[in-house]
Amino acid sequence: MCSSYTAEAFAVMVALRLLLCQIEKRAKDMVILSDCKSVLMSIRSNILDVYRNQYIIEARRILFELCYKHERRVVLVWIPSHKGILGNELADALAKEASTEEADPTIVVPLSDMMSSIIRKDTWETTQSSIMAEAAYKGAFYFSNFYERRATKPWFSKLDKERYFITWINRVRANHFNLGSSLKRKGYVDSERCDCGHEREDLNHVILQCRHYDELRIKMDRDLRAIGFLEEIDIIKLIKRKNWKVLNIIFQFIKSTKRII
Ligand SMILES: [Zn+2]
Repeated sequence: MCSSYTAEAFAVMVALRLLLCQIEKRAKDMVILSDCKSVLMSIRSNILDVYRNQYIIEARRILFELCYKHERRVVLVWIPSHKGILGNELADALAKEASTEEADPTIVVPLSDMMSSIIRKDTWETTQSSIMAEAAYKGAFYFSNFYERRATKPWFSKLDKERYFITWINRVRANHFNLGSSLKRKGYVDSERCDCGHEREDLNHVILQCRHYDELRIKMDRDLRAIGFLEEIDIIKLIKRKNWKVLNIIFQFIKSTKRII
């Protein structure tokens, strides 16, 4: 139940302690590299209260000793993680390896780490239960098609796409979008008829049939063929399958209609 913040603070503190132990062999200037910005900022910060992590306080104490008693200069440097910096990647790999080993009971972990881990789990469970209870009377379409109970991050967290792409997919998932069929259902418009005369303006009509967009559709067809997609377009199925390549081509078509759907 140790937070990653505590683990990172512990690591910096241990590095400082090592410098102190080897002080005779060490140069005048020393550098500690960490990819944890919050820990480095905490060590720099002079605000002290009872909630401060004990390893931050210990790191500050050792830093003080190194600087004023031993007249050394220690520079704390933040390095970005996952950027292929050799030492850092190596440290990450070692940390990962160590996480499968048995925990060291001599290392003290702050109570707040345990509390926040319990609270997080508890809040998660409560939220999921209330969401499921609400699903009985709202969002039926979303729940039957897209709801993932175990997902802790939104579906687009690893997707590098523009905002309209994400909001558009979200609207489709929620079955609320800016077309006649959806607007009529919510009572915003009197008729779900399309401008072209077709009786129902829904997503399939715009993407597959509406004669207003015949020319734009030719380009979409061509692009879909180019990536070898020859199936019938089924947006729900494509979203479920996370077929972003195909969805992106359809999205480009929607964008070219100059409509916000
Ligand atoms: Zn139409």
